[in-house]
Amino acid sequence: MARVFNFSAGPSMLPLEVLERAAAEMTNYEDSGMSVMEMSHRSPVYEKIIGEAERLLRKVMAIPETYKVLFLQGGASTQFAAVPLNLMNKNKKADYILSGQFSTKAYKEAQKYGEAKAIASSKDANFSFVPRVTKADLSADADYLHICFNNTIYGTKFPYIPETGETPLVADLSSCILSEPVDVEKFGLIYAGAQKNMSAAGLTVVIVREDLLGNARAETPTMLDYKIMADNGSMYNTPPCYCIYILKLVLEWIQSLGGLEEMKKRNEKKAALLYDYLDSQDYYLAPVEKASRSMMNVTFVTGNEELDKKFAKEADAAGLKNLKGHRSVGGMRASIYNAMPCEGVEKLVAFMKKFAAENPKE
Ligand SMILES: *Cc1c(COP(=O)(O)O)cnc(C)c1O
Repeated sequence: MARVFNFSAGPSMLPLEVLERAAAEMTNYEDSGMSVMEMSHRSPVYEKIIGEAERLLRKVMAIPETYKVLFLQGGASTQFAAVPLNLMNKNKKADYILSGQFSTKAYKEAQKYGEAKAIASSKDANFSFVPRVTKADLSADADYLHICFNNTIYGTKFPYIPETGETPLVADLSSCILSEPVDVEKFGLIYAGAQKNMSAAGLTVVIVREDLLGNARAETPTMLDYKIMADNGSMYNTPPCYCIYILKLVLEWIQSLGGLEEMKKRNEKKAALLYDYLDSQDYYLAPVEKASRSMMNVTFVTGNEELDKKFAKEADAAGLKNLKGHRSVGGMRASIYNAMPCEGVEKLVAFMKKFAAENPKE
């Protein structure tokens, strides 16, 4: 079967060039006589791989020297606990903005460790927009403010970075990291599961300002202690070696295309193809407020569950895979991460037009 256009929210498409390179290097990496999967993580050949992955991530994202880069396991969901364990350490209080399911999960996890406060929520509107907060909305004594920058399930993204003054801003960037440049200095900590836009499932990247390290709560499991992981170069134990290698290949691919400025241009173009079409017709409805639209996850519905089902099924047969929306939103969701070619989005829009013409609503 030919490669399909896979609109899955995650794990999701990887660039074909990356997969082909990994395949070519699969059984004998750089004359080592072995696969990256078979190497000791302490071997010089592997140390070069992890070192290069970090160097490239720092370069591509322009991460300042004052930040540590950690390669961890456990998915973004483990960070929902690791963040309060490491950072809810002064007043045992933290503010959360509830903009979707993942930020709500993070908030609930933090409640186990202290006073987590939801300072804003769009739950009543089924998370169809990102709440706006100003510095005045923050608790004066919060140890940090947590946000989920791109809401994968609902298809929304923060159209702004909250001003937090001295309070560290913590952000879940799982579904938008590497999609465009971000000003890392605006954040105290960024975390992201790799399976959306960076690598295969199994790797979680944490980018954390150095001065926030070293005050983890006493009960923090060793494996969740950022300082211990930082002091050991993410090698306190065996890191997710192969995923880090794939990340290195993805970063080389991004760099070869012109870095995050170029990724942003490509992603804007792809998202505009979909949103411009959605705005030009009334067969499909885009449930998200325009100002909060995500560039990575585009949600839409026909307004009729049977038609939605038919859409996903026929799209699948046409090689446009995994367009069924998350069960909490219904309808359709097209995840168009970096590796989705423009051609895939063009095909999707053409399919949407055809489907609308063939399936008139009463
Ligand atoms: C996918 C996702 C998660 C969950 O990630 P896991 O790695 O499965 O734990 C959390 N937050 C966001 C924004 C996501 O997109």
